[in-house]
Amino acid sequence: MTRAFNFSAGPAALPEPVLRQAQEELLEWRGTGASVMELSHRGGEFMEVAARAEADLRSLLTVPDEYRVLFLAGGATTQQALIPLNFAAPGQAADYVVTGHWGRLAVQQAEATVAVNLAADTGPERYVDVPPVAQWRLSEDAAYLHYTDNETIHGVEFEGVPDAGDVPLVADFSSSIASRPLDFSRLAMVYAGAQKNLGPSGIAVAVIRPDLLERTGQPRAPILDYREHARAGSMLNTPATFNWYLAGLVFRWMLDEGGVEEFARRNAEKAALLYAAIDGSGGFYRNDVAPRVRSRMNVPFHLHDRGLDPLFLREATEAGLIGLKGHRALGGMRASIYNAMPVEGVRALAGFMDDFRKRHG
Ligand code: PMP
Repeated sequence: MTRAFNFSAGPAALPEPVLRQAQEELLEWRGTGASVMELSHRGGEFMEVAARAEADLRSLLTVPDEYRVLFLAGGATTQQALIPLNFAAPGQAADYVVTGHWGRLAVQQAEATVAVNLAADTGPERYVDVPPVAQWRLSEDAAYLHYTDNETIHGVEFEGVPDAGDVPLVADFSSSIASRPLDFSRLAMVYAGAQKNLGPSGIAVAVIRPDLLERTGQPRAPILDYREHARAGSMLNTPATFNWYLAGLVFRWMLDEGGVEEFARRNAEKAALLYAAIDGSGGFYRNDVAPRVRSRMNVPFHLHDRGLDPLFLREATEAGLIGLKGHRALGGMRASIYNAMPVEGVRALAGFMDDFRKRHG
């Protein structure tokens, strides 16, 4: 059995060297007589894994020293619910820029605990663009502004960190973290579920500027309080130790491969290959996103004849290209090409698309 090129949106492909190392170390981890997932999270061995993972993530993302880095359960969705609870006073407004499905869900998670102001929402135009900041309807005194750096389903990605004035920016980087250099100078919080670029599902990371952690927020249980998690070194309760360990292996792998600058280069090359295959197909394949903001991570596309979808998927699987079925919200196809997807994988997909078009065009 050989491993296929896996274009799944998340859980997504992990780097093969990471899986091999985890396999080798699974039964007995570094002389401890047990698997890493069988060790106490408070023991010296695991504490070292955790500290190493944090240090590597900090260096990978060049996180400023004063920011706190948290490893949390509950995925990105739970962070979307915690953000207003922790950072907005009761009744305060927060601005949300919605450029796709996940931004919309972030609003749903927040609505109960903050007065959501939709500063921009491209839903009526079917989420194919990012409106310029000048068109955003920002509120006077927002607790923060939330946006989604990369919309995993709609394939819309911000060109960079938006310049929206002094309001603290809180950004969902679930599907784009570590895919290119990140400028924290304008970001108050970045969060991401791990299961695309960072590791397996079951763990999320949050990088938070300290002044946000000083906010009173709203009445909440300690387990829903970022300050408590920060104080406890992300070990307020039992963390997802194996996932944390695996994410740590992914961080190491990314650093060894050359860090985010190198992945930015590879990701640009992969995206260019794939969009060229779509745009050069004479309409056989179609991507509707404004070229300026097309995602480098998730490439949704439609075949000109929807009736060919099942055949496309079947033949792709036979060719060793899996995970291409589009999200049910959009239909069609989607190729997710995160850091762990090699350029050869995208070249194979582009070649297959070309061949399929010639046979069925
Ligand atoms: N935000 C984005 C951009 C996502 O892609 C996803 C998951 N696909 C989520 C949030 C939700 O993440 P989780 O399932 O980890 O809660």
